Amino acid sequence: MNKEAFIPEIFVYCDRWCEHCPFTTRCEVFNPADQERDWSKMDADDFIQEVTATFEKTMSLLKQEADANGINWNQLVADAKEVEIEYPILPTDHEEIIALAGDYRRQVTKWLLECSKEIETITQTHARSFELGIELAEKNNSQFVNALEVIQWYHALIEAKLRRAISGLNSSFEEEQDDFSQSHANGCAKITMLFVKKSMRAWEQISAEMVDQEDNILDHLAALSRLSGKIQKIFPAHEAFIRPGFDTFIL
Ligand code: SF4
Repeated sequence: MNKEAFIPEIFVYCDRWCEHCPFTTRCEVFNPADQERDWSKMDADDFIQEVTATFEKTMSLLKQEADANGINWNQLVADAKEVEIEYPILPTDHEEIIALAGDYRRQVTKWLLECSKEIETITQTHARSFELGIELAEKNNSQFVNALEVIQWYHALIEAKLRRAISGLNSSFEEEQDDFSQSHANGCAKITMLFVKKSMRAWEQISAEMVDQEDNILDHLAALSRLSGKIQKIFPAHEAFIRPGFDTFIL
């Protein structure tokens, strides 16, 4: 791949759902092998190996970047080891939004586990309806399954990206940036907001199929709505952030 074709930092503000990404050929960290892997069958050792490989690749990219800019990598690493990290005391509203995202993650994980049988039954019913030639059965099933995948994919990512956004907001380095709307904090807030909105749409689709789950789904929607309001309040300029690739190319 011609290095010029890569879009710098596109992978920092994406949802890591490469299977659905239109920019795989323009992304430096895209790994086609990930598409063939069955993530649900990975054990803890496989997972650690994956994380280690991703970390090593990221470090190699950082080293290339340092070399290209005439920065002494070994010195940089030595200096980094000397730095004592001070974790900032977060403002109460920042602590609250992280706690809210953590609560949402836990409640959705629990819900997915508790409803697994019911979900299976619904997809079996759709399959039977499809076999009987009932119109829309296939479409309804694919919408339902897609919506569940969206919930599953984003429920933990919301918390992870929000933590990055809050940590950026509390970093003195970012406060000193000239164009704060282009800060890492706003970029992470923007992508978190996208995850929240996609999840809300997905819950609405799921509620049409799982009417007996209405109260629980309303709880999930209420949590997402609170998150959305707080993101808007804490990161008022997040929408102005321009995501590399996703906001700069017309497909
Ligand atoms: S930019 Fe696209 S291909 Fe690259 S990591 Fe993100 S989702 Fe995957």
